[in-house]
Amino acid sequence: MPMPPYPISCYTRGCGNPAVYKIAARWSDGVTQELKTYALCCSACLADWFRRGRQKQAACRLAKGEKLEPPGIFSLERGRRDTEINRLRDFEEQLTRG
Ligand SMILES: [Zn+2]
Repeated sequence: MPMPPYPISCYTRGCGNPAVYKIAARWSDGVTQELKTYALCCSACLADWFRRGRQKQAACRLAKGEKLEPPGIFSLERGRRDTEINRLRDFEEQLTRG
């Protein structure tokens, strides 16, 4: 799904900052694959949404053959498609440790 051409707000209610990160996990049923979005957020809310995404992923029940990877952090770049966005593994490691 291409990004809409207007700025997206952080998912945190009342935050109001533009979203610059996307928390998403790769899901697959063995045939199709997609990036499941948990949240779009600003840098201030990143740690919260990342933890929430990991919790949701851990609690998710999967059907046989389905796979859901732990959510990662992606930089949100307008005009880019999911397959082209950058994954920010350094952030993930920092937040996983902290
Ligand atoms: Zn925010």
